[in-house]
Amino acid sequence: MSENIYTRVEFFSGENVPLEMHKARMVQRINLIPAEDRLEVLTRTGNNTFLLPNRDVFLDMLTDSGVNAMSEAQYAAMLMADDSYAGSETFYRLENVIKKFFGTEYYLPAHQGRACENILAGVFVDSKTPNVITNYHFTTTKAHIMLRGGTVHEALSDAATAVQSDLPFKGDYDMAKFDDFVKKLGRETVAFVRIEAGTNLIGGQPVSLASMREVSAYCRKNGLLLVFDASLLADNLYFIKVREKECHDRPLADIVKEIASLMDVIYFSGRKLGCARGGGICTSNREAYLKMRDLVPLYEGFLTYGGMSVREMEAMAVGITETLDIHTISQTPLFVEALGLELQSKGVPVVTPFGGLGCHVDAMSFVPQVPQEQYPAAALCSAIYLVSGCRGMERGTLSESRNPDGSEHLSNMELVRLAVPKRVFTHSQIKFAADRIGWLHKHREMIGGLTFEEEPATLRFFLGRLKPIGDWQRKLVDLYKKEMPSGL
Ligand SMILES: *Cc1c(COP(=O)(O)O)cnc(C)c1O
Repeated sequence: MSENIYTRVEFFSGENVPLEMHKARMVQRINLIPAEDRLEVLTRTGNNTFLLPNRDVFLDMLTDSGVNAMSEAQYAAMLMADDSYAGSETFYRLENVIKKFFGTEYYLPAHQGRACENILAGVFVDSKTPNVITNYHFTTTKAHIMLRGGTVHEALSDAATAVQSDLPFKGDYDMAKFDDFVKKLGRETVAFVRIEAGTNLIGGQPVSLASMREVSAYCRKNGLLLVFDASLLADNLYFIKVREKECHDRPLADIVKEIASLMDVIYFSGRKLGCARGGGICTSNREAYLKMRDLVPLYEGFLTYGGMSVREMEAMAVGITETLDIHTISQTPLFVEALGLELQSKGVPVVTPFGGLGCHVDAMSFVPQVPQEQYPAAALCSAIYLVSGCRGMERGTLSESRNPDGSEHLSNMELVRLAVPKRVFTHSQIKFAADRIGWLHKHREMIGGLTFEEEPATLRFFLGRLKPIGDWQRKLVDLYKKEMPSGL
């Protein structure tokens, strides 16, 4: 699928090794605690990997949010930040970079991606326009829309949620489904149409430029507002460049400009795009800009910082510029692929084609004995921590909210995401994670389910506490210690 257009460095031997295009000049010591201690920590933290203290985690593969490695140029830029409430020079620098990057007229600062979603939902979702159509939902996006009484409709093709596939762009819109939604719901009830780059919850799967063009043309013809979630644009951009033939020779800056020109509003988490901690909303639509602008001082802070530290704003400006370097944005996709191939070689079921963001293990086929009501992906995630010290994230039924009648909303995929933050892990660490998960796969029949001890009403996956059903975790750790005498 990926023709070689110099987006990766090949090995003469033919070996498929992802080559680090950077060197380490500062390192952080990490801890690998024994399995016995891991069981104790996991029990104490309610079997929820979000609640694990980092000191007890070896490879933190929870997320790519705010934990990507920054470049020396980003750190250098942080020293030259203008700390003022109003009119900060730092803001103008950032605004300039972002406006140039997307080619949009306005930029509104916000402290992270979900803050943008709060503003978007606050302005556009109400009882007259409750509907949002999207390729696929994201947890925080959906929560903000539902909080305003809105509903999310997904126009992803059915084939996109197949675990194994060779669809290069699983995040693409199914135009027939999209059109059906618009006709059924009524154009005038649609708050906005949303495209999420690097579709997070189905495995960091990209959207093609061709699909973006189709959706945009449809929206313009039907007077629908098109919103683009660019949080995972860096990975998506890489895949557009290598998987879409017409883009092989196009400069990345040019592709970004075209994408932006197709959208009415663009928002992003700077914790991902730009590898710092911040976010923002861009548009050239003055009416939308003015409506959203009013909410920035209310929720975020004054218009020249939007809840961000000036140092992070400087780092984000440099990070966004670095998104236009192919050997920078290739790193996550190449390491995700390396992890995926390594897992596959041990028989572990993973989502294909490999996407951005991380490698996604299919819990449904890893632990078919665990029913969805017992959170197979969360159970597998807890087991992975026990045998490796690696922290993944559940992306399945636990990450959904219950139906209004209290029943479980069963997710159509049960995934454990092993995020590969940009430029953080080495190749041997990737191999270690795969080695331990390979061991677990051999003993997969030992894994049981989880049940809630404490279940929060909203975004329950962040703070919920669970416990194993039965003593399967104890038995798993005992066997691990027998086969791995160091217990590490
Ligand atoms: C992470 C993410 C968000 C939310 O961003 P935060 O900065 O974590 O609030 C929104 N959309 C997508 C696609 C994301 O991956």
